[in-house]
Formats: sequence, structure tokens, C-alpha cells
Amino acid sequence: MPDARVRTRFAPSPTGALHFGSVRTALFAWLTARHAGGDIIVRIEDTDQERYIPGTEALILETLSWLGLDWNEGPEVGGPHDPYIQSLRIAIYREHANTLVAGGNAYWCTCTPARLAAMRDAQRAQSKPTRYDRRCLARQAEVAQERANGMAAVVRLLMPEGVTEWDDLVRGHVSFNNSDIDDQILLKSDGFPTYHLAVVVDDHLMEVSHVIRSDEWIPSTPKHLALYAAFGWDAPSFAHVPAVLGPDHQKLSKRRGARNVLEYGELGYLPSAIVNAIALLGWSSGDEQEVFTPEELCERFTLDRVNSAAAIFDPKRLDDLNGIHIRRMSTDELVEGLEFHLPGTSKETRRQLIPLLRERMVTLGDATRLCAPLLGEITLDADVEFPPKKVDQATAVAMIDACMAAIEAGGLEDQPALLEQLRAVGESRGVKARDAFRVLYVAVLGTAAGLPVIEAMAFLGKEKSLQRLREARARLG
Ligand code: GLU
Repeated sequence: MPDARVRTRFAPSPTGALHFGSVRTALFAWLTARHAGGDIIVRIEDTDQERYIPGTEALILETLSWLGLDWNEGPEVGGPHDPYIQSLRIAIYREHANTLVAGGNAYWCTCTPARLAAMRDAQRAQSKPTRYDRRCLARQAEVAQERANGMAAVVRLLMPEGVTEWDDLVRGHVSFNNSDIDDQILLKSDGFPTYHLAVVVDDHLMEVSHVIRSDEWIPSTPKHLALYAAFGWDAPSFAHVPAVLGPDHQKLSKRRGARNVLEYGELGYLPSAIVNAIALLGWSSGDEQEVFTPEELCERFTLDRVNSAAAIFDPKRLDDLNGIHIRRMSTDELVEGLEFHLPGTSKETRRQLIPLLRERMVTLGDATRLCAPLLGEITLDADVEFPPKKVDQATAVAMIDACMAAIEAGGLEDQPALLEQLRAVGESRGVKARDAFRVLYVAVLGTAAGLPVIEAMAFLGKEKSLQRLREARARLG
């Protein structure tokens, strides 16, 4: 029975393109909503003007769309809580900050950066935690006067006493002593909200039921819960998902040069394989299955199967999954998908190449390299050993001569028979077929490996194949 009340959100800051770690957060929020038949909201959190990188919102939305992670409300699609871009909602946050001040849950503070720095230095010197000392809380009338005189001021949350705790859907029970938490700035002196105020106000107004985000935000959650309580609002459920580490066991981050997910698309990784690989970063189905379509993931995914330990991104696993997802593509899908990687080819040409390629691609981009000898000319590079290793000169000559004779006699018509015939040539001379065939690979494709050589010759046609064999034969003397 779908639970229509599930509303999740993905709330990226436009500070760079999405990498695997940030897409993982988006994917888990998307899967949670889709699994429950609920909604997902995309909201752009762009109130930190210093970290803003123009143009990255568009890149983020393009990445989500390319991966097939659609959204019910947000930029481009709109929705009942428009606008979904925080910089367009500043008046809402100010109004809410004023409500908190009026209710005694927040206060204005005019302490200068110099005073705050001196205060922290003194606290550090006494080995105390660095926290705002609430100097302004006790002098609100004076602060009001200072503000009227044009002094810069911020609004701070009055963190209540006691303990803040919640049952995290991934972490389990989490608890903080409020005395360990600073009086968080909610509204900055430029009138912009901090993340903490904006995220709580928006999650509430946008009726978010599940906040799914990276576990780096756990220390912020008690501040958010204090805000929900101060406003008199019910808090949503929280699921803090663990970090994604690179193969070097360091956290994936934009700063550490984690690759933009769209670049994987250019290399020929499939959105379905990326979604599959990212889902497995911290989630497992509970059985042996590892290969999933996005539809299967929507059906199977639940947050209670998300591991709370950090997940490690393994590029090899992505490659394996990508190969599997490629082999599951229909010929029509491959004809379409290979257009970018085999530029200038007709649909018909691609259709002919697919049986040669399908089992041999890790990425669609591999088609470019594999098909180059068939779509253009080859150069027999001096650094390619010829005759190849483990093959004597006479056997190489015999292979080429037999191949040319067979082609002249119409051998390309019956490829399995030609294969048998040529296999026999090597074996009769005591050379393993695998080694003997390398002679033909180098002759026809210019490399000792690649597409299956008999099918490749059939694609090239009789004349072109004979010409390449003749040239190679000449090199053998
Ligand atoms: N804007 C925050 C980020 O980009 C989102 C944090 C959250 O989901 O609450 O990390």
C-alpha cells in the first residue's frame, strides 16, 4: 500500500558538480520516495554567497535528469511551495527569525568579529570549548539601540538546556548534551539566513517527512531539532547516511577532485549502471542480487538496509556493472547509445558492429577504440611484435596464406567453417590456435587483441581483408 505522505528532498548547494557521494544522497532520497509512492523535492540551497559557483545549479539538475532521478517539485517543474531556490525566499527566513526573537527563542547579537575572536582565544587559553558567551542576551535593550544606530547584528538561537535526541533511521539512537552546542547564528548581518534556519523553515513549509542527508550534518541536527521545538513544529524523521570514501579510503569530495558524474556519461557509463553502483554504496538487498534496474531498486530499497559504516567506491565494481548493463541493452538501444562514441557512422553500420562489440565493452566509449581498425585505416606499428610471440615465421606465413586462399574461395560466407579451417593450420604445426590467430589479429586489426578477427574481416569485406593480409604478408618477407 503506497504511503503518499512520504516526502523526501534533495537539497544541494550550488558549490560544484555532483560526484558519487552527493549523488548517493540524492539517490537514497529518491528511492525512499519512489518506494513509498511519495514525492521528492529538489531545493537549491544557495544562501551562502561566498561558496556559490555560478552555473552549478544547472549542472546539478542536468546530472539528476541524466541519471533518471526525476523530482515532483523543484526548479523547472515548480510546485505548491514555489520558489524552490533559497535565495528567492529570503523574506520568509527573516520573518521566521523575527518570530523566534519575539518568542524569546532567539536574540540579536552585535558582538564584533574582533570581540568574538578575543573571546575564543581566551576560552582556548583556559582549555574551554569555544562558545558564544551570551553577552548580548543580557543586554537586548542596548542591542536594539545599537541596531537602530546602524550597527551590524546577527540573530542567534537560544539553545535550551537539556539533552537533544532522536532515533535516526540509519544511525539508531543519537543524543547530544545541549550544553555542548553553541548558540547558532540563524540570520547573518547581511540579512541572509544561515543554512540551519533556512533548512528547517523550508523542510517544514515544504512538508518534508524524511530528511535524508550525509552524516556530516549530524552535529547540526540538535540545532535543527531545537528550532523545530522553538517554532512548535513536529520534526521530520532523519536518516544520516555515511560518507562515501574513494579507493584510497579518503572521503570523496569536490575539493579532493572527485569526478563529476556527467563525465562518466561522456566516457560511456550508463545511467542505469551508475545508479546500480551508487545504490550499493551502503545499501544491500539482503540476498545475493547485485544487479538491479532502477525499477527494481525502487521496489526493493528501504532505509533500514542502509549500513551505518562508510561505503567505499570501487571503480572496478562500477566497470563490471556497466558491462552487465550494456549486455542487457537491446540492439536498438545500442544503435542509439553508440552514436556519440562512433561519430559519423550510419545506424546500419552500428547495427552490423553490435554483435562484434556487445560482449567486449566495459563502457560504450570502448567502441571507439575497438572499432577504429574497422572504420578507418590501420597502421602496423613498429612496436607491435610481428610475428607475435610464440609464433614462428613459417607458421605466420602459413596462417596468412591459408586465410587469403580461403577468402578467395568465398570463406567469409561461412565464418564458423573458416574458423575451424584456420585453427587446424596452427595446430598442424604445433602452435596453439590462440597464438596462431594473433597473426591474423595483427594483420587485420593492427593489434594482437580486439574484436573477433573473422567477424571483423566479414565486416571489412573480401577486398579490404585481402589487402591487409597481403601487406602483412609482405612484412614477413
Ligand atoms: N545544502 C546542504 C548540502 O549541500 C544540504 C544539507 C541537508 O540536506 O540538510 O550539503
